[in-house]
Amino acid sequence: MKGELTGGCLCGAVRYTLREGLRLNAYACHCTDCQSRTGSAFSEHMLFALADLAITGELDIGEYDQPSGAHSRIYGCAKCKARIYATNDAREGMASLRCGTLDNSASFVPAGHVWVRSKQPWIGLPEGARVMDEQPRSTEEWVAFVGLA
Ligand SMILES: [Zn+2]
Ligand SMILES: [Zn+2]
Repeated sequence: MKGELTGGCLCGAVRYTLREGLRLNAYACHCTDCQSRTGSAFSEHMLFALADLAITGELDIGEYDQPSGAHSRIYGCAKCKARIYATNDAREGMASLRCGTLDNSASFVPAGHVWVRSKQPWIGLPEGARVMDEQPRSTEEWVAFVGLA
């Protein structure tokens, strides 16, 4: 989706605006890390250029060393703990937005599903959905898989 996007946390203490810029289509991640992080079955993300994000409110930062060796930071509201976006040092300048925090989150249909090999067995994917057993390994591969927004 093009244009300026807005969103925020559950309690309203954190709000953000994402300027139009380098942005990829949303995707769903069914990896076991996302299942543990979110306490849910999968997460919905969208990769974007961090420089395009303007955010207000107090943030908490969660830190995690991924199995790949990349160090990730997860930024969320200090008050309600809703997670907003994450960065990792393997993709400098880019971040992944938690799509459920967007004001118009229903407009973001995942363009692809990654880590389908660990998808919860009761989740059915739409016919013709783009799927990967694991995930793209570079920003270029991500662009090829989900496409630029
Ligand atoms: Zn909050
Ligand atoms: Zn994941």
